[in-house]
Amino acid sequence: MDRRTPPTGQRRNTYRSSQAPRRNVWPAGSMPDPRVYETLPPRRPNGGSRRVGQQGSYHRYARRKRRGRMLQKLAWLLAALLLAGAAFLVLNGTQLLEIGSDQPQTQPVAAPVEEQDNRFVIAVDPGHGGGDPGSTGVSFDEEEMTWDTADRLLKLLEADDRFSAFLTTDGSEYEKPSQRAANARAGGAQLLISIHGNSGDDPSYVGFECYPVPPGRTYNAESLAFGQMIAKRFGEAGERLRGEGGVRYIYYEDNNEKHVYEVSDTTIHTDTTFTLLEECGCPAVLAEQCFITSPEDVDAFGDEDGRQAAAQIYYDAICEWYDSYGPDAAGNDSSTADSLT
Ligand SMILES: [Zn+2]
Repeated sequence: MDRRTPPTGQRRNTYRSSQAPRRNVWPAGSMPDPRVYETLPPRRPNGGSRRVGQQGSYHRYARRKRRGRMLQKLAWLLAALLLAGAAFLVLNGTQLLEIGSDQPQTQPVAAPVEEQDNRFVIAVDPGHGGGDPGSTGVSFDEEEMTWDTADRLLKLLEADDRFSAFLTTDGSEYEKPSQRAANARAGGAQLLISIHGNSGDDPSYVGFECYPVPPGRTYNAESLAFGQMIAKRFGEAGERLRGEGGVRYIYYEDNNEKHVYEVSDTTIHTDTTFTLLEECGCPAVLAEQCFITSPEDVDAFGDEDGRQAAAQIYYDAICEWYDSYGPDAAGNDSSTADSLT
């Protein structure tokens, strides 16, 4: 029988003191490895049964050990100091940089709340300009009258703190009606008046007429009311009103052929009306203030007095329209709208 073969049922890996004696003592005079020592049980105060030579080695080792611990403590202290210093720099670095810069030292404060501009926005279109003179009249080009009238209307609106008014173009260059409409939308226009002068082959052609956003479009009702308020005042001022009360609808076919319908004709046409009215995005009226080819009309609403009178009429009509359709009008409960925002 092979002696290395364990008896049946005996586990080969079982620790047996007789097979592996504990090596917790070192030969006399040899230095214990501290790493080994740390795995050994602590030394008994009386030194146990160790001999003198062993005790001397131990004291030397213990001194080194104490020195090692002291050095370790110093290292930890140094590391802690370094860490604290680094933290101080990080926390105060921004402030130090600020001190070195020209930035103000005051803490940022909340910007003052801008006063909300609740004024009603009116876009005034001066009809022509920017290299487009419009029609030629007996005394001036259309552009001259429309710009002067627009400027006078703008002054009246600016003097009224209910309104904020602007021109659809600055006249420095030609802007198509579609661009002026885009400018009106960008300016937040809530009502638009476009000022023009009429022209005819015969100087006997006279009178006022205007064109609101036609039926079938958003803002037809508001635009129609605005047109009627303007026309009524021109009529009261003695001007002849063309068509039914000076208010008409106009359409252009694809070939640019023009069709004019009286205001009582509410047929919805697919042909487009003036581009500015189609695209400005708010109630709008285009006014033909007077015939600049008629000396009589120019005297009434084309010369300086006439332009001022026309501007006053537009302003008065805007005020009436604002009272009926503006945010403070009955039926326009602005407080409800506010509560929804
Ligand atoms: Zn014109």
